[in-house]
Amino acid sequence: DAELVRSVDLIREVPDFPEPGVLFRDIGPMLSDSTALRAITAALGRDLEFDVVAGVEARGFLLGAAVAQHFGTGVIGLRKPGKLPAVADSISYELEYGHATLELPADTLAAGQRVLVVDDVLATGGTLGAACHLIAQAGAEVTAAAVVMELTGLRGRDNVSGTEIRTLLKA
Ligand code: IMP
Repeated sequence: DAELVRSVDLIREVPDFPEPGVLFRDIGPMLSDSTALRAITAALGRDLEFDVVAGVEARGFLLGAAVAQHFGTGVIGLRKPGKLPAVADSISYELEYGHATLELPADTLAAGQRVLVVDDVLATGGTLGAACHLIAQAGAEVTAAAVVMELTGLRGRDNVSGTEIRTLLKA
């Protein structure tokens, strides 16, 4: 798909962000392009079965809402701690340095719902793995996870075992 190829080509590489030695992939220029946003959104959800989309803070919110709108579902924002007025459940996980937490907002996800988890980049897989656990703990089912870009060298898939992972670009 030529449009998809053009779209992922809009992802910008930023050396030494957020710290020296890290090559950060910035999807901002891709999201701000109307044709690219439509192509990416359609590709993330195409032929997958889901009742609701869960987007991971913060860029997963932008993508997740677009995917939900395109496929006619609602969207849930999985949030960093301290932002939600009412929390259904939370999960903490290890990062390369330190740890992080994701929270599921109350009264959003029903048991048995089929969920598509959406984020921008799959790196070590800690974030996506935690998101999937949080949804499973709520009695819902992650039918797939979809990200724009997968950094394959970090073997993030190994931390999201048992879940179909769709990636539009591998690096
Ligand atoms: P992981 O938990 O190590 O897989 O990191 C994935 C999380 O960190 C996602 O929520 C991404 O938004 C963010 N992330 C990691 N690397 C990048 C990057 O190069 N660009 C944009 N986001 C990134």
